[in-house]
Amino acid sequence: MDLGIKGKRALVCAASKGLGRGCAMALAEAGVDLVINARGAEALEATAAELRKFGVQVVAVAADITSDEGRAAVLAAAGAVDILVTNAGGPPPGIWSDWERADFIKALDANMLTPIALMKALLPGMIDKGWGRVVNITSQSVKSPIPQLGLSNAARAGLTGYVGGTSRQVAPFGVIINNLLPGIHATDRAVSLDTGVMKARGISMEEVQAERSAEIPARRYGTAEEFGATCAFMCSQYAGYMVGQNILLDGGAMYSTM
Ligand code: NAP
Repeated sequence: MDLGIKGKRALVCAASKGLGRGCAMALAEAGVDLVINARGAEALEATAAELRKFGVQVVAVAADITSDEGRAAVLAAAGAVDILVTNAGGPPPGIWSDWERADFIKALDANMLTPIALMKALLPGMIDKGWGRVVNITSQSVKSPIPQLGLSNAARAGLTGYVGGTSRQVAPFGVIINNLLPGIHATDRAVSLDTGVMKARGISMEEVQAERSAEIPARRYGTAEEFGATCAFMCSQYAGYMVGQNILLDGGAMYSTM
């Protein structure tokens, strides 16, 4: 399917691995030129090389997107983009009594205020052009809280509220903002969380993954390719009537009629 975005330019944050990489790959396949970011330069350059095989232009900026300096460097390289995919690492797991103010501020900075700052910087250019797409990678925890990820639950809920209002303010200008909510996907993040469970319960990684998969109606973890393809559709010409939505990709894990 031609997504109608060949020749557009996108910024995909936190894109050297996992879900961000999946989004960048699908956009490259759709003919979109890319600015990609992550902290580690080596994996980022390796991903940039893979993306260039689609014949698109790729600029890679190694920086921490959650820091003011990192964001400034990424935004300077990006210039005026048509498409923004926001993403960053997720906060660590824990229990409600662990978390102090500083922990919340860190989570809010990474998973709420960073995507908001990126939108604030890039929405005006999209509005001027009369066309834009923003996809924020959030989490299933927005719809169905994950108790041990309280920092993530809190920060992402804040971003979701912001997008709910802002998406309606910019839609009249052809600028479309939505959130994409991953359930469990087979990435390094899932390995890291599963390793915590493995150690806490003294069971093998295979047992942890089998138990978690058994709770998902699709009986497996999602893939970065599936996630990226959904993201690319949400950035396409065909997504112009999808405004302020929270699209859940969780293999059916959350039971809900609507
Ligand atoms: P991942 O496989 O660990 O990949 C994370 C990517 O983000 C890497 O490229 C990493 O590169 C980059 N990154 C991390 N922190 C960054 C920062 N401060 N600045 C720039 N780049 C940064 O994670 P993932 O599974 O793709 O998860 C992506 C997001 O989805 C996370 O927020 C995660 O919490 C959320 N999520 C994931 C799942 C899941 O099952 N995978 C489920 C729900 C929500 P560097 O380390 O080199 O910077």
